[in-house]
Amino acid sequence: MLDGRKVRDEKKKKMKDALSRSGAELTLAIIQVGSLEESSAYIKQKKNFADKIGTVVAHKQFPDSVSEAELISVIENLNQDEAISGIIVQLPIPERLNKQKIIDAIKVVKDVDGLTSENRKRFESGDSRAVIPATARGVLSLLKAYQVEVKGKKATVIGRSALVGAPIAVLLGREGAQVTVCHRGTEDIVGKSRDADILIVAAGKPLLVTKDFVSAGQTVVDVGINLVSGEKLEDEIPKRELVGDVDFEAVSKIVGAISPVPGGVGPMTVLSLFQNLFDAGGI
Ligand code: NAD
Repeated sequence: MLDGRKVRDEKKKKMKDALSRSGAELTLAIIQVGSLEESSAYIKQKKNFADKIGTVVAHKQFPDSVSEAELISVIENLNQDEAISGIIVQLPIPERLNKQKIIDAIKVVKDVDGLTSENRKRFESGDSRAVIPATARGVLSLLKAYQVEVKGKKATVIGRSALVGAPIAVLLGREGAQVTVCHRGTEDIVGKSRDADILIVAAGKPLLVTKDFVSAGQTVVDVGINLVSGEKLEDEIPKRELVGDVDFEAVSKIVGAISPVPGGVGPMTVLSLFQNLFDAGGI
């Protein structure tokens, strides 16, 4: 079991000690638009982690009706504020807002999610100053924590979004894996998945990867986070359940190692965000 919570908790203490030794104070500004339940839950997780390691979160929440200009002006003020080491925009934000334009207002040295166009250019060109997008950093750290050999291995990544799948593929390639990227239009995803030593699934499709996609001895990392309606409770309100992109029950019986949802990549993403904050703050 690739247990992301366990790895996160092991690193947590080291980060707390390093921060207190440095005497520095680190503040992460989180910008939230609206009050989407999932986003509030992710922000809560980030605040909990921040509390445990001794960093501060400045949570700035705006109504759904906020304008692009107002958000950009808030970000520009945070850019100038020396007490703020990192700034993130909690996604998703309403469709009517130009997401990339707003993210691009973040000064690159404070872009701890690594999502500004400038940082993405740096990341893709292999610039050492680039921030590694948090989920990709989390996936690689999880593999490393469990000593999964990447160099020379065949890795298949299902999903190629700019925020998640693509940076994971870049990192695996840099670590010396032979990477195959699959997306909605790819033929024979089943064969390409089964053939891999390492299978990373970041499609956002509940239970996409069934037992037919996998083979014995593989390492499977499930990045997907999907809220689905589960069993009905007594009051007939369907319970909402968190599931990944992998049919954990069936797949875990076949493969060598697998990350669960929840408790796999999610905690590693939070950890990586704060590692990026430490890097930005020079800790
Ligand atoms: P996205 O919708 O932007 O991209 C999905 C990608 O998967 C696309 O490239 C698409 O072509 C591919 N895809 C979709 N359905 C497919 C299919 N049936 N077969 C093959 N490829 C398919 O989503 P995203 O932002 O990249 O997020 C992916 C998933 O990862 C989501 O479930 C999201 O919630 C989750 N996520 C998890 C974390 C974490 O910390 N664990 C962080 C970010 C995102």
